[in-house]
Amino acid sequence: MAYLHCHACTWSQDDFWNENYNPIKYFQNDLDNLLNGDLDQVVQIDSSWLEANGYTKEDYTVRMSILCHLDQIHKQIESMKYRTVEEYKEKNPEGICPGCGNNHCLDID
Ligand SMILES: [Zn+2]
Repeated sequence: MAYLHCHACTWSQDDFWNENYNPIKYFQNDLDNLLNGDLDQVVQIDSSWLEANGYTKEDYTVRMSILCHLDQIHKQIESMKYRTVEEYKEKNPEGICPGCGNNHCLDID
């Protein structure tokens, strides 16, 4: 895993992916818990996250959790520029930021 981001602007992307680390794999890991039981059962999670995302403790159900996971996967895949370090180095050897266009300003943490 490695996080690619720009020092000149706010552009960043999710960590690089591999066979064991990618949005779909993470969803698969949570799926057993999400699919055991009633879809309308309330899920107990961090209340600050609920508040920041417009939910109350009473309306965040297993069904909503699955939809949020799928929405997050959609956004991660949609915004992913380079899946792997190798793809990044091959397609962007100058380190040109997709956000601001500056070169040599991208960093991998
Ligand atoms: Zn930038």
